[in-house]
Amino acid sequence: MTPQPGEMRKMDKIREYLLRDIGNEMESGRAMYLVRVTLLGELVYFALFSVVLLLFRQWKGSALPLLCFVISLIIFRGTYHRSKTEWTLPLFYLLSLFWIVIAIVLFGWDCGIQHLLFVLLVLIFTTSYSSMSVKIPLGLMVYAVRMGLYFYTLSVEPFLPFPPGLNHVMQFLDTTMVYLLLILIMSVFASDTLRAESRLANANRKLNNLADTDPLTKLPNRRYVLRHIEECISNSSDPICPTVAIGDIDFFKKVNDTYGHEAGDRVLEILSELFQKTMEPYGLCARWGGEEFLFFFEHLNLDNAFYVLNDLLEKIRLTVIPFGEQQIKVTMTFGVEDALLKRSAQVEIPKQVDSVIQKADKKLYMGKQHGRNQIVA
Ligand code: GH3
Ligand code: MG
Ligand code: MG
Repeated sequence: MTPQPGEMRKMDKIREYLLRDIGNEMESGRAMYLVRVTLLGELVYFALFSVVLLLFRQWKGSALPLLCFVISLIIFRGTYHRSKTEWTLPLFYLLSLFWIVIAIVLFGWDCGIQHLLFVLLVLIFTTSYSSMSVKIPLGLMVYAVRMGLYFYTLSVEPFLPFPPGLNHVMQFLDTTMVYLLLILIMSVFASDTLRAESRLANANRKLNNLADTDPLTKLPNRRYVLRHIEECISNSSDPICPTVAIGDIDFFKKVNDTYGHEAGDRVLEILSELFQKTMEPYGLCARWGGEEFLFFFEHLNLDNAFYVLNDLLEKIRLTVIPFGEQQIKVTMTFGVEDALLKRSAQVEIPKQVDSVIQKADKKLYMGKQHGRNQIVA
């Protein structure tokens, strides 16, 4: 059943109230939220406990849950006072211990109040940043209290034993309370952990993206393209026959010298967009460094890659890059090499990749020597 909008708003308001004014920076807001929710649960529990005892005419016995109700209320209010929040957690632990010990001494083991120690144990481990060297002794203390109370009740009769039937009611009340509180604590804690994990995964993804992307051109960088090519080889059981090209902008230093470095950056950005669009169906283009770009055609043979690059070269020649009043035009030179790369070869994958890139680079150099503005295959 999905909650109605009105109900949702009410739930949100309660949540907002419970999360408000978390003052102590040493504790997590979530921890104080858990304490507040548990205190609210305990308020209901102490009220119910008092009412049941009054109904069974246990006048003296009802004073204890009433007293605990009042103390819980004070602690609950204390969680909203900045100067007092650091005291609320220990006070809350003490109140719980006080209630459990005195109630068992007064009413006996059969009323089931000792089950609340499990809630206390879980809260000790979930509601503070204290180190394990604090939490483990506290946990052991809870264990000692439970064992001590058990052996105590074996040898000493309760001071205010419940009439027949009331123990069953109290067992029911305590067990239900413990179940509800444990489920609540676990669900808050689990959703918190999952949220933290997903935030961490997102942050890692963003960091990885940043580490793989060239900030100016937004193209993949050298690190990424090398890893990508190596993965293509190692993920394929058959040899792969890609074509690799290295393209370099001609006389780029002159662009910087004539129009300024910013204009040079703009040229790199505009051309990179063109490269990315051109390469989308065939593989990818990466910024290899400076004004050099690597084009990886995953499934194209040399002839087809040459055809695509020829078309690209023509587009580059025709591209006019506006920069202020200026109209900038550039050309490029490409060296292209195809290869047969396989994972089971004698030569290691990175060496195979390096070799094909070096061959493309040599051809680029030849193109530069023979007039630039051309493709050497
Ligand atoms: P060639 O045709 O032989 O390649 O000549 P070229 O001038 O392009 O080559 P050269 O290696 O002499 O100069 C490359 C220039 O590219 C020098 C460097 O300042 C510039 N450059 C490298 N990276 C960037 C960048 O990110 N932004 C800008 N604006 N310039 C860059
Ligand atoms: Mg150049
Ligand atoms: Mg260069």
